[in-house]
Amino acid sequence: MIPAEKVMNIGIAKPFIGDEEKQAVMEVLNSGQLAQGPRVKAFEEQFAAYHHVKHGIAVNNGTTALIASLMAHDIGPGDEVIVPAFTFFATAASVLAVGAKPVFADIEADTFCLSPEAAEAVITPQTKAIMPVHLYGHLADMPRFQALCERHHLILLEDAAQAHGACIGDQYAGTWGTASFSFYPTKNMTTSEGGMILTNDDEIARQLRMIRNQGMNTQYYHEVLGYNFRMTDLSAAIGLVQLQRLPEWTDRRIENADFLSETLRTVTTPVTRPDHRHVFHQYTVRVTEGVDRDAAVKRLNERGIGARVYYPRPIHQQPVFQKLDGYADVTLPETDRATQQVFSLPVHPLLTDEEREYIVHEVNTLC
Ligand SMILES: *Cc1c(COP(=O)(O)O)cnc(C)c1O
Repeated sequence: MIPAEKVMNIGIAKPFIGDEEKQAVMEVLNSGQLAQGPRVKAFEEQFAAYHHVKHGIAVNNGTTALIASLMAHDIGPGDEVIVPAFTFFATAASVLAVGAKPVFADIEADTFCLSPEAAEAVITPQTKAIMPVHLYGHLADMPRFQALCERHHLILLEDAAQAHGACIGDQYAGTWGTASFSFYPTKNMTTSEGGMILTNDDEIARQLRMIRNQGMNTQYYHEVLGYNFRMTDLSAAIGLVQLQRLPEWTDRRIENADFLSETLRTVTTPVTRPDHRHVFHQYTVRVTEGVDRDAAVKRLNERGIGARVYYPRPIHQQPVFQKLDGYADVTLPETDRATQQVFSLPVHPLLTDEEREYIVHEVNTLC
């Protein structure tokens, strides 16, 4: 038993940089090849191979991965892109960034991911693409989104920023649509800042390589509009080492999640759909109907548990969207319910057995 007076300090995330990463960075510094170079190429190949996808295109963060994906599919002014509102801001902001209109649809109550039915209900003649988010590390219902997109001739994109290594059966993110990953420090693996796009489409891959590098394939011949979204070899060197750690880390995340789900009694634990591999970027629970979620989170924080709410305000209710036309009366009941009821608990791979037990004891007592 853990004595009541003992307070631990357990963060929601614990980015790990070991000696191998430090040595890999030093090698790059000593090589003098600081910008995009051979390590970026190796990292792209290995990250794509890990997901059984043909092409990997590394960029400087997950947000630019999303923007480049939209650009590669020629999505812009006059186009609508269906996205969830229960996600990180960048999902919808990237759509605004290319001049297209984000159209919000509701989520599924169990997985918190975009609902195929809700998405279908908001398709208009202007709809060009659907971009589900694999929220918390659980893939959205991609087989159904694929069928839906085929039926309506729409482009399927994936915000896979939280879903490194997640799959349904043996099919990984990036095999259904153009998929954007993030390597921000708190994600399942990191490159400091960084992002990657995966696609099986040769032409989209070619476009993406140009878009991230000033729109050119040949020096100073600018075929399309592009920017500087390049990843550095310093970041890629870190990523190459972290990718080696990812399988073990993912197993530990799943093991931690299983332990929490078997022992938590007072909250609704996360669902993993049959045949899915949930990689638990976050372990997200729901409080019982009527329980004050914010007060529960505060009590846990006071006991040193880094419980956090992802996300406390749906995207369509953010000030930047409320200033735009057409978002004031969007109603998304499951999004609202999740916004009020969920919070996430530490599930990261460096969590110790003692910390896991402490978390369970405190949640079962305080929530
Ligand atoms: C982290 C994240 C992003 C953005 O990635 P950055 O690397 O921080 O730019 C986009 N979408 C989702 C769902 C994310 O979690």
